[in-house]
This record gives sequence, structure tokens and C-alpha cells, in this order.
Amino acid sequence: MLLPIANNFVAAEDQPGALSHIDTLNDDGIAGILNLLGEHYDDPADAAADADAYIELIEAIDRHDLDCCVSVKPSQIGLDCGDDVFLTHLDRIVDAGTTHDVFVWIDMEDYTTTDVTLSAFEHHARKTNGAVGVCVQANLKRTREDIERLTDVPGKVRFVKGAYDEPKHVAYKKKSEVNEAYRDLITYAFESFTKGKVAVGSHDPEVIDYVEELARTYDTPYEFQLLMGVREDAQRELATDHDVYQYVPYGPKWMSYFYRRVRERKENALFALRAVLS
Ligand code: FAD
Repeated sequence: MLLPIANNFVAAEDQPGALSHIDTLNDDGIAGILNLLGEHYDDPADAAADADAYIELIEAIDRHDLDCCVSVKPSQIGLDCGDDVFLTHLDRIVDAGTTHDVFVWIDMEDYTTTDVTLSAFEHHARKTNGAVGVCVQANLKRTREDIERLTDVPGKVRFVKGAYDEPKHVAYKKKSEVNEAYRDLITYAFESFTKGKVAVGSHDPEVIDYVEELARTYDTPYEFQLLMGVREDAQRELATDHDVYQYVPYGPKWMSYFYRRVRERKENALFALRAVLS
């Protein structure tokens, strides 16, 4: 059972509960990005089961006519079992997404997975003419070169600061360096993307202000993406005049995700606790 303390950050344990959360979000003018929680499977049967669950989810999103896409983690659909397992399941999920007109995002995991994830994105983005998106991380030193390569690829690119503790030979370790790299990347994307849409995956008010400034200068399409349970008031305010997506995790494996949110910011724990007590 999903504990009340976790339900600020996780929509539900099951698919109907997750879809009902999206229905409410859509009423507030916010689109959804559903993520079935799960990662690092070393048994191909687990990867296949979650890939099947994503296909069922895509069918349900279409049936309920929701403004919602999905986001999958490579290691959830088999990357730890082999590149071929991941690529086969991703093919199936993207096919279902194209059939049902549901956009498919690929989350980015640690730096050892970047090459295979970006190649898979590029292949599917060109094949579907932009029905998929990928996340790139500002803390990785390679990302500037990666997005230069993606300049004329259709689809969407989500820019985030990076959630993984990477070694210093590949990553910026200081917050100030990551913030500067993030600014540099989104500036480049606004200036240079010819076919893709920029997705800003950040809660940072300075980033959001800066993007609004860029948008006054460039016509590049863009959207904001924020996590469920984080700056929800700001999400609703932004949605009055921007495309806003809420990333919504769900599923029985909610416990480790919830603890990650609490660990990264003590205010999250207090917020969750207050919600339970009130
Ligand atoms: P930070 O740099 O952490 O904080 C900057 C400022 O933002 C803070 O000072 C505060 O003002 C505000 N803020 C931040 N968090 C909170 C909060 N909880 N409550 C109130 N204010 C807050 N990472 C990956 O590595 N791979 C992915 O695929 C990925 N997908 C993501 C998808 C989405 C939609 C989002 C939003 C994030 C994703 N991330 C992903 C996580 C990302 O890399 C960052 O770790 C995370 O977003 C924190 O960085 P930030 O820019 O939001 O703000």
C-alpha cells in the first residue's frame, strides 16, 4: 500500500490511480509524463514485464484520451541484460506510442549508458519524425558535444542538471559549474535547434526566468517539466501561459523513489509530513 507520506511524490501503486491523477492534472492545464517505477533489472523477464506494462499504459492513455506521455528508463527495459534486450523493448514501446499517438521519453541514467541511449533516441526520432524524446545531463562534460550532434534531429530533448553521482573525469562536480553548463546548453539549444523542441526539466526559479528571457529572443519551441510534488504552485502558475508537463511516478516500487526525494532535500520530508498531519 502507498503510504500517505509518499503520495505527494508518487501518484499511485497501480495504473488506474496514476491515470486518475493525470485526469486531474489535465483539468488544471498541465500535461502528464507517466513513469512506472523500476530500474536495473538483471532478469530479462522483469524487463519484458515492464515493457509490456508500458504498452498497456500507452493503450490506456489513448483510450482515456489523456494529455499524457510516458518516460522509460533504459535499465528498466533491459539495458543491464544487454543492449539488444533494451533496443528490442524500446522498439516495441515506440511502435505502440506511434500507433496510439502517445509520446515516448527515454530517461537518462549514469554516464556508462549515454552512448547507447542517445543512439537509440536518434534512430527512433528520425524514424518516427519526432515522436520520442531523450534527457541530457548538464553535469556531464560530454553533453555540449552530444547536443551539437542532436541539433537537426526531430523530437524533444529534456535538459536536466543530472541526478547521478558521476566520477570527476566525466562530470562537473561543483554546483556552480553544473549551473553554468546548464545555462550554456539551453542557450545553445534555443539558438541552434532546427527541428527539435527544448524541454526544461528543472525546478530552479533562476533557470525558469532565464528560459523566459531566451523565449523572448528565439522562436524555438519549448516546454517546462517538473516533478510531481515539487513546486506544485509554480507548476500551476507557469501553466497559465506555458506548456507544462508534470513527471508522475507510480507503481508498487515506490519506496526507493520516495526516499531519494526525501534524501535530496530535507524540506521534502517536512512537506510530506505536514501533508499527512493536516
Ligand atoms: P536544483 O539545482 O536541485 O535546485 C535549484 C533551486 O530549485 C533550489 O535552490 C530551489 O529554489 C529550487 N528547488 C529544487 N528542488 C526543489 C524542491 N524539492 N522544492 C522546492 N524548490 C526546489 N535526472 C537525470 O539524471 N536523468 C533524468 O532522466 C532526469 N529526468 C528528470 C525529469 C524531470 C521532469 C525533472 C524535473 C528532473 C529530472 N532529473 C533527471 C533530475 C535532475 O537531473 C535534477 O537532479 C533535479 O531536477 C534537481 O535539479 P533542479 O534543476 O530541479 O534544481
